Amino acid sequence: MRYAIIADIHANLAALQAVLEDIRINGGVDEIWCLGDIVGYGPEPRECLEVVQKRCTVCIAGNHDLAAIGKLDLSYFNPAAAEACRWTTEKLNPVDVHYLGDLPTKVEKGDFLLVHGSPSEPTLEYIISAGIAEKNFAFFTNKFCLAGHSHIPAAFKEEGSATQSIHLTTGIGLVLHAHRMIVNPGSVGQPRDGDPRASYAIYDSEGLMLRLYRVEYNISATQDKMMQAGLPVPLITRLEQGR
Ligand code: ZN
Repeated sequence: MRYAIIADIHANLAALQAVLEDIRINGGVDEIWCLGDIVGYGPEPRECLEVVQKRCTVCIAGNHDLAAIGKLDLSYFNPAAAEACRWTTEKLNPVDVHYLGDLPTKVEKGDFLLVHGSPSEPTLEYIISAGIAEKNFAFFTNKFCLAGHSHIPAAFKEEGSATQSIHLTTGIGLVLHAHRMIVNPGSVGQPRDGDPRASYAIYDSEGLMLRLYRVEYNISATQDKMMQAGLPVPLITRLEQGR
């Protein structure tokens, strides 16, 4: 079986569509797993929700998904994120609110635990260092954990009592076999690792191989829509910088 792992779409429909097309070009998958933050920041929350509901087998609630429906306090957000969140809330209809409200914060799929943030704090914690990853291995019993939230592709491997950070990049397959791991596929709609291309991963259970992919998309098309919507300028410019 082949699985695509996507995260942090952030209402960026052009990026999401480019990723779906790239998945098709790369041989397709049996299931798509989404690690949350479908909405927030970007200009097309409802359109992205529609695609995710149609295409994803599972989806986790992200902090922006919960904040947009009033289930997470905006005090967790910086002013630009909070402004975009309020804009998003106005766009959602009752069906969207119901869908987002029903999303789980953790899901188990075979050997995998799926979360948005981390196993210990599924909605809010960022796994951005080996130290944070190390603490989190104690909070799940599955062999692997898939997490989003940081918008930075990363992998952390448990080796004995130590945890090692592995550079996750395109072109190099990561074998998921001997060691427990936490893997972040990066962000579809707002990458923050300096590469503005949309990011996602495909896991092939036959070869136990996970690969990272980066896809170019029409960044200016998304930026134009954000301008028209009056979304905060820093959120618009960061897309072309990948930061
Ligand atoms: Zn996010």
